[in-house]
Amino acid sequence: MKTKTLKDFDVKGKRVIVRVDFNVPHKGEVITDDNRIMAALPTINDLTGRGAKVILLSHLGKIKTEEDKAKNDMSIVARRLAEVQPAPVVFVNATRGEELENAVRDMAEGTIVLMQNTRYEPGETKNDPELGAYWASLGDLFVEDAFGSVHRAHASTVGIPTHLPHCAGFLVQKELEVLGGALNEPKRPFVAILGGAKVSDKIGVIENLLKIADKVLIGGGMAYTFQAAEGKKIGNSLLEADKEDLAREFMEKGAGKLYLPTDTVIANDFDAPTDIRTVKAGEIPDGYMGLDIGEETIAEFKKALEGAKTVFWNGPMGVFEKPEFAKGTIEVCKALAELDDAVTIIGGGDSASAAKNLGYAEKFSHISTGGGASLEFMEGKNLPGVAVLED
Ligand code: AMP
Repeated sequence: MKTKTLKDFDVKGKRVIVRVDFNVPHKGEVITDDNRIMAALPTINDLTGRGAKVILLSHLGKIKTEEDKAKNDMSIVARRLAEVQPAPVVFVNATRGEELENAVRDMAEGTIVLMQNTRYEPGETKNDPELGAYWASLGDLFVEDAFGSVHRAHASTVGIPTHLPHCAGFLVQKELEVLGGALNEPKRPFVAILGGAKVSDKIGVIENLLKIADKVLIGGGMAYTFQAAEGKKIGNSLLEADKEDLAREFMEKGAGKLYLPTDTVIANDFDAPTDIRTVKAGEIPDGYMGLDIGEETIAEFKKALEGAKTVFWNGPMGVFEKPEFAKGTIEVCKALAELDDAVTIIGGGDSASAAKNLGYAEKFSHISTGGGASLEFMEGKNLPGVAVLED
């Protein structure tokens, strides 16, 4: 895969459209986590520092109604962006038209224009060709730095670069290098740890990693479908009955490398449990549900991780949002953080939040900024926003 990088272009005086991922969590006007803004700064600072006119485009939230628009107004990001980097920021409360065009025309070198939310345009998510061509007409070069959006073929991710010279920004470049390294030439042993609620969300990634990794450890709610497939008792635990055949197939194909929990923490109620205990996997009484991996499984997973040189982790081992069922996720996170000389990658989403909340974020080689995108990448899928950058 060959994509050009920022360093391949002389950007002085050029109008550079950068697709960033400013889809930040926020409550009203308060941004509750500005990580995504911070993650885009290396690219933005490089461009403004070299005298580019930087036009930033991003979506924020899902937009279906006028109310959604009011809730997901990009001006909150403009304010934060102006605080965290030195270049002047002009916010344009429009996604097309004279106000936007004039703002771009009047830009000085080394300054930033941030456009209103791309999804204010209904054509954005449909990759409307007219919209992609229009946005492209505002710039001389397109830089893709929104890794969290490259699995989507939208006007701002795929439409624009079909009309302009293009390259990957530093964030996308790093994501592709690290995830691509694990997928294509992992240092071995390569261990994948997959958890979370549903098998159906992770089918592709289990399938691909069973081919590539040396071990695949499965925890979280999806493990129970595997146990049900073996005819074991899972009580009221999460089950996707229509995925039992597939689970059986994975167990056959993955024999020797697929690790499932051998014990499980169960409770008599999800919201207000009065009885919490640990039982052998597949021996969950009726009326109880499995909500975390047990001590024995934690020990086995830790052993399976010993000596690992590459680890990819996506999805919690249990209902980690509740302290009673967080131990499996915490212990797996700790074990990864303590690995010596290993490339440790978290594929975004809940496992990334768990690592951050536990204070282990710095201990990982890489925490992906794209949950959905990193999963699709590890499935071996072609990501449209990356494919369009290839030469
Ligand atoms: P995902 O988005 O698929 O990675 O799933 C994350 C969610 O799975 C978290 O909200 C967890 O609480 C949930 N989860 C993990 N283990 C279980 C379980 N045993 N039962 C129910 N939910 C679970």
